[in-house]
Amino acid sequence: MTKVEEAPKVQSSKSIVEEIRAWLKENWDPELTVAEWWNRLGLAGWSAPTLPTNAYGRGLSRPDAIGVSREIASFGALGPPGGLGLLLAAPTIATHGTQEQIDLYVRDIVTGQRGWCQLFSEPGAGSDLAGLTTRALKDGDEWVINGQKVWTSLGQFADLGMLLARTNPEVPKHQGITWMVLDMHQPGVEVRPLREMTGSAMFNEVFISDAHVPDSAVIGDVNNGWAVANTTLAFERSGLGAGGGGGGFSAMPGTVADQLGRRAGEFVTPRSGAANDVAEMLQPTGPSALVALARANGKDKDPVIRQGLAKLHTLGEVARFNTERLKAAHSVGRDIPGLPNIAKLSMSDIMRLSRDLGMSIAGAQGTLHAYTPEERQELEGLPASGLVSAITSLALHAQAPPIYGGTDQIQRNIIGERVLGLPKEPNNDRTARFSELPKNG
Ligand SMILES: Cc1cc2nc3c(=O)[nH]c(=O)nc-3n(C[C@H](O)[C@H](O)[C@H](O)COP(=O)(O)OP(=O)(O)OC[C@H]3O[C@@H](n4cnc5c(N)ncnc54)[C@H](O)[C@@H]3O)c2cc1C
Repeated sequence: MTKVEEAPKVQSSKSIVEEIRAWLKENWDPELTVAEWWNRLGLAGWSAPTLPTNAYGRGLSRPDAIGVSREIASFGALGPPGGLGLLLAAPTIATHGTQEQIDLYVRDIVTGQRGWCQLFSEPGAGSDLAGLTTRALKDGDEWVINGQKVWTSLGQFADLGMLLARTNPEVPKHQGITWMVLDMHQPGVEVRPLREMTGSAMFNEVFISDAHVPDSAVIGDVNNGWAVANTTLAFERSGLGAGGGGGGFSAMPGTVADQLGRRAGEFVTPRSGAANDVAEMLQPTGPSALVALARANGKDKDPVIRQGLAKLHTLGEVARFNTERLKAAHSVGRDIPGLPNIAKLSMSDIMRLSRDLGMSIAGAQGTLHAYTPEERQELEGLPASGLVSAITSLALHAQAPPIYGGTDQIQRNIIGERVLGLPKEPNNDRTARFSELPKNG
């Protein structure tokens, strides 16, 4: 029999956990406003502990940062600002920005003063991101931007955007792109929310017409944006960003969401299952919840449902072991190539199976979804309404994870080409000028 090697356990150092606990005892006060609390947390380096100390972090390892997040959550304090600023913009700017840019942007991210969105995808550039056509033209000491972005998550709440724009079309497509910070509050930036079949409007179209970006807001060098974007995408795939990813309570950062002036203690209550957060949505539809519903609906004797539940449990356990293996490898400076891509594929599989199994167990009731408070009230009268509505919400949202952060097909391409060494699809886009390439859409 093959001996299975046990994954080393990821542990946060005891001293870090003790330090954050002592700090929380001294500093957490639910009567502070959200802004006041985030100011304390962020400037002490606890909002983004994996960032280096010159970027408002503490230079902690990921296992230590996870320990910090867990401690903040179990202490019952409000966690760091949520959103794409902390997850993507802060680590990107900390990696490629100047100290002046770090002080200008990262400080406001760790203290939640500004909300961010990611202006990468376009109607004709998603998987083929380097094919983007939003144009930035130099005008004195600033850039004039024209183009359209799409799928911009939380764009309607953003103060600033991580913008990828084409600054030179006369070189191969990966070489003429620049990463810049776009002020979303200016004439020429129009955000139009897109209504999803879930009923909510998480993402948006963003139309940019003659908007302006100063030279000082270019992160990294002009025309070196592909390297900077890859840093952002690496943080998007690993899902850990500048924080620890330990869950807990949070509020929305920035001036638009209007939560900064509210009492921090208000946000420290269990969140409702309505949010579009995958982890949160998977939880009420995880194997144990589905087993309970199958028992209640008399479907626990159905052999197909039983097989499905066992498969869901197995996939979840394999994903958990793989995550632990990767964290353990990272903690000793090693990597397991392809594992983040496999993890993303496995999340898509779990999502689809949870949807199909959940809908089979829920039966006809699973086809009902509330779009208004009145409809919600009506559904609340039905048996196991909370769980069934979580299943229905998950079923409607299940299309998203296999697409965002790189589609399932793109994950397989990456594994094929970069891990297994299979030949790349033949094309000339690394050598031909962007202006000469055929365009999408
Ligand atoms: C919920 C959600 C949130 C998002 N949030 C943001 C955001 O905040 N900011 C942002 O910039 N973007 C965001 N996106 C966009 C996301 O990154 C893109 O949707 C994704 O990269 C796919 O691009 P596309 O939609 O243009 O599809 P396309 O690239 O047009 O792909 C269409 C189909 O063709 C397949 N395909 C394409 N190329 C290949 C290939 N070479 N080999 C094999 N198959 C291929 C794809 O897998 C897919 O099935 C979000 C998307 C979703 C669903």
